[in-house]
Amino acid sequence: MSCVFCAIAGGEIPVARIAEDEAGLAFPDANPKSPGHLLVIPHQHVADLGDGADAYVAVAPLVARVSRLVSERLGADGVNLVVNSGESAGQEVFHLHVHVIPRYGRSEPPADAQAAVDALSGA
Ligand code: 5GP
Ligand code: ZN
Repeated sequence: MSCVFCAIAGGEIPVARIAEDEAGLAFPDANPKSPGHLLVIPHQHVADLGDGADAYVAVAPLVARVSRLVSERLGADGVNLVVNSGESAGQEVFHLHVHVIPRYGRSEPPADAQAAVDALSGA
């Protein structure tokens, strides 16, 4: 089985590893919906929520941590957490992931996606 997010988790595809714990990894979405858009994945492969409800619970602390991080480092004043689980829900990569999408309603967003990644790196 070839899975791009397993390759990212395993380090075979290099990404900015924004934050990590024993359960999962947070890294920038390649096609960000807003500057600082991150994906949080479990290290272990599970396809979706049906396959990996436990893995979803296990990455919750990391999701909370990077949600605080985009507020502290990028000045986001809101965040959308999104899980697309299943093809009919729009899931395209079948390794469970949580989108962490910073929102900048009344705050100044980073200049661009790269500036956001630079500000988040080294957390
Ligand atoms: P889904 O619709 O499955 O919830 O979203 C998959 C997300 O993964 C998309 O937002 C897409 O931009 C992102 N993505 C797909 N392939 C890659 C990749 O190779 N690297 C990174 N960083 N993000 C990816
Ligand atoms: Zn995988």
